[in-house]
Amino acid sequence: MVPAMKTTCCIIGGGPAGVMLGFLLARSGVHVTVLEKHQDFFRDFRGDTIHPSTLELLQELGLLDKFLALPHTRVSGLSAIIGGETFCMSDVSHLRTTAKFIALMPQWDFLNFLALEGAKFPTFTLKMGWEAVGLTEQDGRVTGVRVMTHEGPEEIAADVVVGCDGRHAISREAGHLDVIEQGVPIDVLWLRISRHADDPENALGYINYGHVLILINRGDYFQCGYLIAKGDFPAIQQRGLPEFQAGLERLAPFLAGRTGEIDSWESVKLLTVQINHLSQWSRPGLLCIGDAAHAMSPVGGIGINIALQDAVAAANLLAEPLRTCTLTPHDLRAVYHHRIRAVRRTQSFQALAHRLIHHILNRPGPLKPPFFLRVVTRIPGFQRLAGRFIGMGLQPEHIRT
Ligand SMILES: Cc1cc2nc3c(=O)[nH]c(=O)nc-3n(C[C@H](O)[C@H](O)[C@H](O)COP(=O)(O)OP(=O)(O)OC[C@H]3O[C@@H](n4cnc5c(N)ncnc54)[C@H](O)[C@@H]3O)c2cc1C
Repeated sequence: MVPAMKTTCCIIGGGPAGVMLGFLLARSGVHVTVLEKHQDFFRDFRGDTIHPSTLELLQELGLLDKFLALPHTRVSGLSAIIGGETFCMSDVSHLRTTAKFIALMPQWDFLNFLALEGAKFPTFTLKMGWEAVGLTEQDGRVTGVRVMTHEGPEEIAADVVVGCDGRHAISREAGHLDVIEQGVPIDVLWLRISRHADDPENALGYINYGHVLILINRGDYFQCGYLIAKGDFPAIQQRGLPEFQAGLERLAPFLAGRTGEIDSWESVKLLTVQINHLSQWSRPGLLCIGDAAHAMSPVGGIGINIALQDAVAAANLLAEPLRTCTLTPHDLRAVYHHRIRAVRRTQSFQALAHRLIHHILNRPGPLKPPFFLRVVTRIPGFQRLAGRFIGMGLQPEHIRT
């Protein structure tokens, strides 16, 4: 097939990494086409946390005030209720950033915002409902993307293809990039429960009786993540909904009377948690970033921000060679070398947290908060340090394009 379209950079996937990279490259004058397989950004399983590092990027782009005009909630500290006792785990209010809080905003609002800002540049094209189904290659170099649209198959020729298509990326599979899996002992059940105005604000994690429940405030409802041992969902279903509902109420008693809203297992989605990374993020003509290059766990709510930092680093390193048509495989490898240490260290932290969570899931009785937690959370500066890690990440990037 002769490619019907030609672009400089074809981005597969309109998630946080893809839309941010598309926006930044288009802003630098590079012709960019972003492909998103869904017709809209409205999907429930996406995380909702926009951290201070991302808000700082928006400030650098001159977009922060406009962004914060969208409906959102702000949290400056995150607490965990462990065995009925409240522990303040992190505090971002001291950070040297313009916005000293985490903005909780449905991710579709964030993506729509960036996509609308991108559309202001004539070099930005976003194709919704276009699914990448393969790559085209010539002499060992990726030269474009094969796409399925509602009107039929298409081919797009590109100087470079960037895979931002998440943990089940076609880009890494079709690009024959090796995935290194790291075993994960937990999964997440994803459900909604209505929220009342007087419900606790900052308490995010409820940990007791061998269970962990995360509540994300989405205004009139909580997006709930209920952590389970990997493979346990069929056994939980077999024990029945009433036991499941009672378990939720035991963890967060203020939810009493509302768990009946989960009236069938249809309202409970199983999301498999993965941690993995590619041994190389690129080959000639192809680069993967975000979850496509390194799937992140939901622990710490840091995956979106890591994906966005990857996008900023990629734009900083690639905009100039793309604009001047001088891009080399070395430029693509530079993105990996720039980001890999921060990504792998963050994944190691998540793996450590998984082990701790798995240990908790195996202790069904009432949980006594561990002594080390009492000590650690009283160390002066602990919450600030944790807040810096969660809020800024290990290697915050800055707009250089
Ligand atoms: C249950 C769960 C909860 C999480 N909660 C949080 C949280 O609260 N905060 C946080 O920071 N992180 C969270 N994470 C991690 C976070 O979701 C990811 O790290 C982050 O979304 C990665 O962004 P991305 O842009 O790389 O990929 P994604 O967000 O996965 O985006 C990929 C995009 O590519 C599109 N796509 C896929 N294949 C194709 C194709 N073939 N053609 C075209 N388009 C395609 C998809 O539709 C999607 O829009 C969570 C993860 C899980 C599993």
